[in-house]
Amino acid sequence: MQYDHILIRYGEIALKGKNRKKFIGKLQENIRHKLKEFPDVSVKRTQGRMFVLLNGHDPHAIINKVKNIFGIHSISLAIKIPNELEEIKQAALFALENGENVKTFKVSVKRINKVFPVRSQDLNQVLGGHLLSNTEGYIVDVHHPDLEIKVEIRNEATYITSSVIRGAGGLPVGTSGKSLLLLSGGIDSPVAGYLAMKRGVEIEAIHFESPPFTSERAKQKVLDLAEKLTSYGAKINIHIVPFTKLQQRIFQETPDGYGMTVMRRMMLRISERVCQKEGILSLATGENLGQVASQTMHSMNAINEVTNYPIIRPLITMDKDEIIEISKQIDTYDISIRPYEDCCTIFVPKAPKTKPKRDRVNYFESKFDYEELIEEAVQGIEVVQVSDEKQVEDAFSDLL
Ligand code: ATP
Ligand code: MG
Repeated sequence: MQYDHILIRYGEIALKGKNRKKFIGKLQENIRHKLKEFPDVSVKRTQGRMFVLLNGHDPHAIINKVKNIFGIHSISLAIKIPNELEEIKQAALFALENGENVKTFKVSVKRINKVFPVRSQDLNQVLGGHLLSNTEGYIVDVHHPDLEIKVEIRNEATYITSSVIRGAGGLPVGTSGKSLLLLSGGIDSPVAGYLAMKRGVEIEAIHFESPPFTSERAKQKVLDLAEKLTSYGAKINIHIVPFTKLQQRIFQETPDGYGMTVMRRMMLRISERVCQKEGILSLATGENLGQVASQTMHSMNAINEVTNYPIIRPLITMDKDEIIEISKQIDTYDISIRPYEDCCTIFVPKAPKTKPKRDRVNYFESKFDYEELIEEAVQGIEVVQVSDEKQVEDAFSDLL
């Protein structure tokens, strides 16, 4: 005997009508995609749930993949057997003996198929008795068991499920449109990307680099971060923008305190152009209120003036330690703290204005016509695709 199915439950009670259909369809597609290296595994839907048919594969390898997929509430191993009392007894015993760290258990029978001759209550007793007399050291605890063995007798078969593993929650990636994530090599922006994905947002990334002031390793860091994020969705395209010339020009033309404000505005302008080309409807950043000079309310007001695209800022109200905790949990922290400089850290003036004003920044920007340099940066974008299988460094750059 062995577990031959994985039962997948999805939450989001508020889903109705068309949304529900879209949600479920996308979830099934995302699960199939994630399991594509196991060609003989299949993903089926039944009322209100999904099943993965394992076809002999190790359930743990599959669970490891599935538990990161957004939109899944919980996961359980399951055994499918015919509606026969003897087989049900055997399978329940298997479930109990294969539980980890189990001392107390409970059996819960749900009989949907009323033709099955034993009633739920009676079957609870029969199975409980069978388990106790065929094992040693277990006790029944109906209130807080270590393991609840659920027996569901349906028309076509009986399913036995045991321990419940928590899923990643959220909405299936791809059900909430697409966003262009401004991805630096820092701690915050990958966490912002993760949280946006959790709400069903599909991500492309944009990264501004300033070679030779920023190194190849700084770029690699960003690719590695994006690759980590792919385990919560599928592939991610990263638009790498050559930012050196524009950045140098900005800091030549702009009084010290305003350089960073202008630089951020240029990042948004370029990002918006990429959105227009790619049909992306919003931006996402790792901005967090009050962390640094570029993230005061005044600063955000001045920077935000250049775009009317929605900017998703999932971290805006979080404390730094909450952000760090998530970055450790999603395994991006160790990559983020690699020491390589990014373009901002290098050019940032010693005393950036914490209260920049729109009219001042507009005045400084009017002193030089940046259009040509902006367009040159956009033309020079290189697109690298990372996927959850391997990093494929395709030359997509000619698409732009
Ligand atoms: P992070 O930890 O994400 O780098 P931060 O706390 O260092 O954020 P800032 O340097 O002010 O904050 O950057 C704010 C946001 O601007 C970042 O979260 C990111 O979304 C975006 N950003 C900054 N630098 C870059 C870059 N080189 N390329 C792309 N986006 C960037
Ligand atoms: Mg940073």
